[in-house]
Amino acid sequence: MPSLVFADAHLHSSPKGLGALRIARKFMERGGWFLALVMLPPWHYGVSISRKDAMEGYRRAIEIFLNECKAAKSTGVKVACLAGFHPAEIDKLIGIGFSPEEVLAIGEKILEIEAGLCKEGVLDGIGEVGRQHYKSMPERFAISTSLMIRAFEYARDNDCLVHLHLENAGSVTVNTVDNLAALVKTPRRRVVFHHASIRVARASTSIGYYATVPGKKELLRRLFTENISSLQRLMIESDYIDDPKRPCVSSCPWEIIENQLSLLNEGIVDEDVLARLNIDNVSKYYGVEPP
Ligand SMILES: [Zn+2]
Ligand SMILES: [Zn+2]
Repeated sequence: MPSLVFADAHLHSSPKGLGALRIARKFMERGGWFLALVMLPPWHYGVSISRKDAMEGYRRAIEIFLNECKAAKSTGVKVACLAGFHPAEIDKLIGIGFSPEEVLAIGEKILEIEAGLCKEGVLDGIGEVGRQHYKSMPERFAISTSLMIRAFEYARDNDCLVHLHLENAGSVTVNTVDNLAALVKTPRRRVVFHHASIRVARASTSIGYYATVPGKKELLRRLFTENISSLQRLMIESDYIDDPKRPCVSSCPWEIIENQLSLLNEGIVDEDVLARLNIDNVSKYYGVEPP
């Protein structure tokens, strides 16, 4: 067994899938020490949002998510918990008949609840917020932007982390986010560019942001050979969504471990770099004691 330990810096769980308890156990068995668990939109938990009382469904979803967090923590693995309002939720709510004004108000209310939980220390951060990475309508991008700004304000005031879900357009993506964060005066060190491409990872981490890169083998191979991994503030994520109908659709958390170990065996990466990505950068960003 290798002495290395591994982190998954952004993943999801659902009681409809394996659930956080089984995920955390399996991840630990393979050498995992840290998980950043991020809330999924309510429908992934089997919670539907009604036209009459959207907040009721969202409150239930937050409760389910907090239970998932508790379950993961009970295994002894270190866990950070983030809840947000995913850009896809904007499209979903408009699709079921909410007006843009209503969706903005719902999103603001949810972020307010989550920021309160952050302040109390129940949550470590807000995520995911950001922008749709697919074709959508202009007014929906406007809602996304307002909510991202709101999340930045809470991150600044309540000592919260933020995970951003964005299009991957290299320095173009990083530039708009950096302008917003600077206007709000949100410290760069609290913000993660999640599911980052190599270009976004390079542009964001080089100016003080953190980034999580999907732990797909070929992407990691590029990351290690292009030597961006020598940079600070880079972490690896599975972005696992724990959907039994789409198993390992992004990656499974244990697969990102296998991929790193297999690249280590090939001599593409060394133990020092893996320790930096899985321990140093993770403990710095999430403020957790290294294992
Ligand atoms: Zn995402
Ligand atoms: Zn995600």
